Amino acid sequence: MNVDVTISSHMGKLAAGPDRKSPTRFAVVMAVTSTSKSARRDEFVHRLPKIELHAHLNGSIRRSTLCELAAARGIDAAAAMLDSPTPQTLSEAFDVFRVIHACVTTLQDIERLAVELAYDLDDDGVVYAEIRTTPRALPASLAAQDAGTLDEYVEAVLRGFERYTCEQMGDKVGLRLILSIDRAKHTASDAQAIVDLALRFQTRGVVGMDLSGDPTKGEWANFEPALQRARLHGLKITLHAGEVRGRDDEMAAMLAFHPDRFGHCCFVSASNLALLKQSGVPIELCLTSNLLSNSTPSLERHHFRDHYTHVDSHAEQEECTVCCISTDDSGVFNSPLSNEFRLVMQTFALDQQQAFHLARRTLQATFLTRPRLDFPSEATNQLMREDDQLRRNILARFAAFHQTWRWN
Ligand SMILES: [Zn+2]
Repeated sequence: MNVDVTISSHMGKLAAGPDRKSPTRFAVVMAVTSTSKSARRDEFVHRLPKIELHAHLNGSIRRSTLCELAAARGIDAAAAMLDSPTPQTLSEAFDVFRVIHACVTTLQDIERLAVELAYDLDDDGVVYAEIRTTPRALPASLAAQDAGTLDEYVEAVLRGFERYTCEQMGDKVGLRLILSIDRAKHTASDAQAIVDLALRFQTRGVVGMDLSGDPTKGEWANFEPALQRARLHGLKITLHAGEVRGRDDEMAAMLAFHPDRFGHCCFVSASNLALLKQSGVPIELCLTSNLLSNSTPSLERHHFRDHYTHVDSHAEQEECTVCCISTDDSGVFNSPLSNEFRLVMQTFALDQQQAFHLARRTLQATFLTRPRLDFPSEATNQLMREDDQLRRNILARFAAFHQTWRWN
């Protein structure tokens, strides 16, 4: 039985009663109405097809898995969970990842994280995801002596994705991988090595490069050459940007680089904001992450409001920034993508049609390759055909939802 119907008929009985103006009855009706609306919105955001473009593999760890791995290593996992109402500083948020990395120490763990994340995305109604991760040299298991190679790390992630894809029946989440350069830990030559690594896996699902890590450390200029080279070889680029105040020169240099996407952009000067809007570069926006790492004073003042414009027609869309609602670290912040959509709808008063267009428009910002006639090899041709088919499947899932959802 449909919950919504049951509550509506219950409301009808209350409203028709002899004492319908009684404050108590009125309060009950209001409460039931509000419960009904919120249940309906929860169902909507869960069933809405969603595209996740900014999720870190380690930060998306299941809490139950984190607790299990932590217990096996004698670590207190509570330090890696940031969902208290008290905002943390960005530096404290980065401490969390040290705890996670101390728990996730083997290639077995990495494969487990990848397969579990794929199932969690599927359960949350995500239809396509680009997961990012910073490759680390890890042993195969706790018993193994030698640290593996970075290639083995990427293999472990892809194995996790493949396990999900083989096991799952019916509609599946389309999965692609982005490799991250850590600006706080990597040198310019490390960055070049990660680009080489990404290129070795380019025909197996690695679609792009990311620059992330503690934004108070490292210099953009050190990493730009590696990212330029990645781009020349067909990899797409996304940059964590504007995460802290006082980095306007860096933001200006990143804007001049013109990446394929930006992440966050919380602190951007007026002149850079104008350039950012002009650039047409899509932005990955992560509301809960920004709130809990103290990058926005409240959800109401989140910079989603600076970038979002509701558009219906294709012509208008060309003029507006694509806002990609994302989670960043759903395990750390305890907020799946459906919850991020719920927060956006609630905070910025988006109706269901607007949220649908917001979700579907994210497809324009993916790193899936576009059909071209001049691909040099059969391997890249095959990749192009697979990506094209995946894009059609995603569009079909949006169309099916649009046809079957009972719009208000
Ligand atoms: Zn991030």
